[in-house]
Amino acid sequence: MTADLDQLLAAVEARQGEIVDLLCRLVSFETPAPPARNTAEAQQFVAQYLRELGAEIDIWDVHPGDPNVVGILRGSDAGAHHSLIINGHVDVAAVEPGEAWETGPFRPIVRDGVIIGRGTADMKGGLAGALFVLRIMADHGVALPGDLIFQSVIGEEVGEAGTLQCCERGYTADMAVVVDTSDLHIQGQGGVITGWITVKSPQTFHDGTRGHMIHAGGGVFGASAIEKMAKIIQGLGELERHWAVTKQYPGCPLGSTTINPAVIEGGRHAAFIADECRLWITVHYYPNENFADVIREIEEHIGGVASGDPWLRVNPPTFVWGGTSMIIDRGEIFPALEVDPAHPGTILLATMHERVAAQKAIVDVSPTVTDGGWFGDAGIPAVIYGPGELRHAHSVNEQVSIDQLVTFTKVLLAFVLNWTSTRKQ
Ligand SMILES: [Zn+2]
Repeated sequence: MTADLDQLLAAVEARQGEIVDLLCRLVSFETPAPPARNTAEAQQFVAQYLRELGAEIDIWDVHPGDPNVVGILRGSDAGAHHSLIINGHVDVAAVEPGEAWETGPFRPIVRDGVIIGRGTADMKGGLAGALFVLRIMADHGVALPGDLIFQSVIGEEVGEAGTLQCCERGYTADMAVVVDTSDLHIQGQGGVITGWITVKSPQTFHDGTRGHMIHAGGGVFGASAIEKMAKIIQGLGELERHWAVTKQYPGCPLGSTTINPAVIEGGRHAAFIADECRLWITVHYYPNENFADVIREIEEHIGGVASGDPWLRVNPPTFVWGGTSMIIDRGEIFPALEVDPAHPGTILLATMHERVAAQKAIVDVSPTVTDGGWFGDAGIPAVIYGPGELRHAHSVNEQVSIDQLVTFTKVLLAFVLNWTSTRKQ
């Protein structure tokens, strides 16, 4: 190494204007999802930035107009030293026409120590800081002993899991840091899975037959799918309350395991008995649970509700779980991520945070979900650690503090240098 850590950290301080400029540049690429399919230009910019720093580039379309970019900096003694994945998503939350942005979501403003613009907190700030870590190392001739894999992914905001594709493509490391919004806490997360529950009648009846369905001696064995779905919604509420009193996880508020009946669709029009009803639910579960178990609990409970109803017993509801996109198949999965506080990577990141930021490191659980779970799912120890506050993410006049962005960049730099210089056990 030609420069010591203190020199590199001082260089970050001295060049913080460049981090701000880089973030403003990233924000100026309009990459909201939905509608998505708009990240190609931003990703070309990231790829070029990484290429100039000596990274090998792997770029491929996850969807047309939405490529993933992976930049690989090969370590000088990779076999013997820890490798690291740094991951961030380049898509940002959607904007609605008429929102009260000061200058427009993609025309960033720098003022009073903050940068305002869509994606500053979630999470182009994290991406800009992480890219600048690589810039500083390149400019100071730092060659890392272990491999560094930089992933700029698409689709996170709509559950399209560009990160999952990176894992499936074979990218792995001894640790991953997802630089998504965490207010510089070191975080794991609970999981989220969406599902569709469908109640469907094998026959379709005219509205005029309802009397025969519900009255004594009517003789028609039929039902309104909407009324039966109401029973299922009640059942979901019972299970949600049961979870609230029986499940807990350290660091998560009690009752975080929710089942939200988010969208309901059903019926044809007023001249029919509703022969189909579909319910879209969002299920949150704790970091130490997995979606297969959670799904089984829901299907068993609703199976019990159905078996107690003469019509649902014969016409049981069906379930479709998860999905690959909120805009294609209207479903998503964000696996949970448990952070091991005793993992050497977690300890090192906490130590670097305390040393560089001069603040106590906080290891806790994100109240939202990120791509971090895909690494946990792939068996890669991972943490979420990034600048920006969740209350600003997705908001009008979204912003990030420049101080925090610079602190993040310095902590990440210290962590990257130390982690990839540590010999594998
Ligand atoms: Zn995010």
